[in-house]
Amino acid sequence: MSHFSIQCRKCGTKLEGTYCAFCEHCKDALRVTDYKDARFTESRAQGVWRFNWLPVHEPKISQVGPLVYRSEGLAADLGLDELYIAFNGYWPEKGALLETCTFKEFEAAVVLQNARENNIEGLIVASAGNTARAFAHLSAVTGFPAVIVVPRMCLMEMWYLERQFAVPTLAVHDGDYSDAIDVAKKIALATGYPFEGGVKNIAKRDGLGIVMLEAVSKIGKLPDHYIQAVGSGTGAVGAWEMAERFVKDGRYGSRLPMLHLGQNLPFAPMLHAWDKGSRALFPEDLDPELIPRITTRVLSTRYPAYSVLGGVYDALTATQGRMYGIENGAVYSSMERFLRTEGIDIVPASGVAVATLAQAMAAGSVRRSDTVLLNITGGGEARLRQDRKTYAVVPKFVSKNITEKEIEDLLCHDLKKNS
Ligand SMILES: [Zn+2]
Repeated sequence: MSHFSIQCRKCGTKLEGTYCAFCEHCKDALRVTDYKDARFTESRAQGVWRFNWLPVHEPKISQVGPLVYRSEGLAADLGLDELYIAFNGYWPEKGALLETCTFKEFEAAVVLQNARENNIEGLIVASAGNTARAFAHLSAVTGFPAVIVVPRMCLMEMWYLERQFAVPTLAVHDGDYSDAIDVAKKIALATGYPFEGGVKNIAKRDGLGIVMLEAVSKIGKLPDHYIQAVGSGTGAVGAWEMAERFVKDGRYGSRLPMLHLGQNLPFAPMLHAWDKGSRALFPEDLDPELIPRITTRVLSTRYPAYSVLGGVYDALTATQGRMYGIENGAVYSSMERFLRTEGIDIVPASGVAVATLAQAMAAGSVRRSDTVLLNITGGGEARLRQDRKTYAVVPKFVSKNITEKEIEDLLCHDLKKNS
């Protein structure tokens, strides 16, 4: 018997033993993992597999979690009494050992394990950067086949932990992250391996929700506020879903943490829709011309999980949350502020989160005595390079208009499932 089933947010139908990434139950709604054990428990296992609320049964490879600690430097600088930082990255002096330097590693770990347990033989992954590194690394570590598709514009900021992975990486030379998603879906059709499913994959959201699991385990209660930079919003939805489970459990507080989500201006489709009270995104806010003007390319998807039932719009509504827009200048100064006050480098997306927290305080939405959880989704890249070499990503270039024949030629020798 599985310790979980999957429930549709819209019609309530329960699905057992389904690999949710391509379950199209109600097309406009997300499905959510329903864990039979409503009480949060931690086993004696190491790392993230000690948590009972993950959709996996028998993970074979250990996986370290985030470092959650109570801040002194940044807390004093911001004027907060109870600031907890979830640091997702490499900072061995402090006990953070995530060599991919991104919280996407939790997503990749849970997604690959969940896929394996559902007899999936390989996955096609689309990424704007961090997810690629996380999946490439874990695909290599676990021997699970994956094909990774990224937009060329993100290659500059991308790096891998190994010189060469047995993981094919394709770069779309004439498109952005959203085009990479489209190419990934085409490759999925051509190879017979499924697309990882984006926000629809429950394993993805529950994996990212590990940050909330670790935080509540550490703090002993739900925080009043949760701060994160968002691109697709998948991580924020995952945090909200985990918080809902803690509220149902009843021992960690009865109020959902208020979500404070930041986007990098001028590409901020969710911010603009939310400010106008709209569940629908506006086409002018999704203009690809805006994307080269932001510093955080990892936040550049034109397909965010905003309007879908159970997505960011609903998460903000349920938690009385807010959205914030962060200028490039504030991103850089916030990265410096974190380095100065906490003593470790962070990535631009984390700079967006720090600036979001500062804005939320200035607006009076976060008060001095509140318990705050700041999700530093990536950091310690500079620190990692003191200890080990990292490598540029060497992809095969493809067009967003790639044909099935071209996909065959590119991948059939490595990865043809149906041959
Ligand atoms: Zn349904």
